[in-house]
Amino acid sequence: MLTDRDRIFTNLNGRRGADLQSALRRGAWDGTKFLLEKGKDWIITEMKASGLRGRGGAGFPTGLKWSFMPKPQEGRPHYLVVNADESEPGTCKDREIMRNDPHLLIEGCLIASFAMHANACYIYIRGEYVREREALQRAVDEAYAENLVGKDNVHGYPFDIYVHHGAGAYICGEETALLESLEGKKGMPRLKPPFPANMGLYGSPTTVNNVESIAVAGTILRRGGDWFAGLGKPNNTGTKLFSISGHVERPCNVEEEMGITFRELVEKHCGGVRGGWDNLMAVIPGGSSVPVLPEHQCQDLSMDFDTLRNLKSGLGTAAVIVMDKSTDIVRAIARISYFYKHESCGQCTPCREGTGWMWRVVNRMAEGRAEKREIDMLLEVSTQVEGHTICALGDAAAWPVQGLIRHYRHEIEKRIDDYSRNSTPADYPIAAVAAE
Ligand code: SF4
Repeated sequence: MLTDRDRIFTNLNGRRGADLQSALRRGAWDGTKFLLEKGKDWIITEMKASGLRGRGGAGFPTGLKWSFMPKPQEGRPHYLVVNADESEPGTCKDREIMRNDPHLLIEGCLIASFAMHANACYIYIRGEYVREREALQRAVDEAYAENLVGKDNVHGYPFDIYVHHGAGAYICGEETALLESLEGKKGMPRLKPPFPANMGLYGSPTTVNNVESIAVAGTILRRGGDWFAGLGKPNNTGTKLFSISGHVERPCNVEEEMGITFRELVEKHCGGVRGGWDNLMAVIPGGSSVPVLPEHQCQDLSMDFDTLRNLKSGLGTAAVIVMDKSTDIVRAIARISYFYKHESCGQCTPCREGTGWMWRVVNRMAEGRAEKREIDMLLEVSTQVEGHTICALGDAAAWPVQGLIRHYRHEIEKRIDDYSRNSTPADYPIAAVAAE
């Protein structure tokens, strides 16, 4: 069981100060120079040994990603870009890091940049996160004032860090759209390849990492990659921030060991499901883009990348959305479909047309105004969107719909039957979904 000593974020709830002196007391910036003196190769080797997988949703091994950066070349600066555009519905973990433990993030930026030959780092923060941007900028200013970062800092590695405020587009959380936006252009995803490690910000080698992935780096290196790898499960190591929302007694953000069961997570930190466990209906385990799971698959569910992928869902950002039996599941997925339709950048046809098409059909199905043959047609359209788009937003729009049909086809069919008997959608009043 995870103890408080194993937790990396000791001020997640903000009960202590976010300022530099408080952060120093909690262990941030402890021996950072010593870590850098061990060298770039040692840092990357330790990060690989830790087994840390990217915390932004995709779960790609962080140490391996860092090792993809090419050797430095004259005239091609390297960049680290931190993706703080946290916009996936249900996800609010990076927010707590930036509000309450920003120095862990800044220290991680220095270490990661050093390991990848980058002398500049940009933190791209979500437009709606005004207070978080202010808190982070305060911490950056403190770090400059104490000479922890800057051209001639105490760590002996020239390093500048910039906080860039986005304008509130979900798609700018996609790494190449984020780079476009950072360059002052419209936030539209780029075709890959070339990948950012070769052709990223301003055409230079760039690594884009999630806030949590970077903020844990200093502690992992201080305690050792083996320590982190000893927590969690094989291939799903360490601790992870979970954002638990929806129908639980006390929604919260919490750091827990990877592989904790859903039941333990909710019992221990959220006071259980609202109305008791018998009232649980469904869970979206990793942010709105992963398929929903029905109650019978959830209680003993191990919260890790591999288990959830095997169930055709995903850990994603570990934003756990709990739904009790009062939830209109078809309407809930219709609302998610509307979100992706609204946030599509419109650049590629399957996404631009498919997201709108899926939303309209699920919307009708929520009222029962559909034919049963349309269920398979909807599934077919979702598979034509999935994997056929420039970026993963197409997949993110398709998967919730697929999860709905996989687990709740009977619910859709029941509504269609009811509607054909009564010719009224009165029991399912969702006409306002689009306007919400
Ligand atoms: Fe834009 Fe959607 Fe294509 Fe991504 S998948 S590039 S959001 S149209």
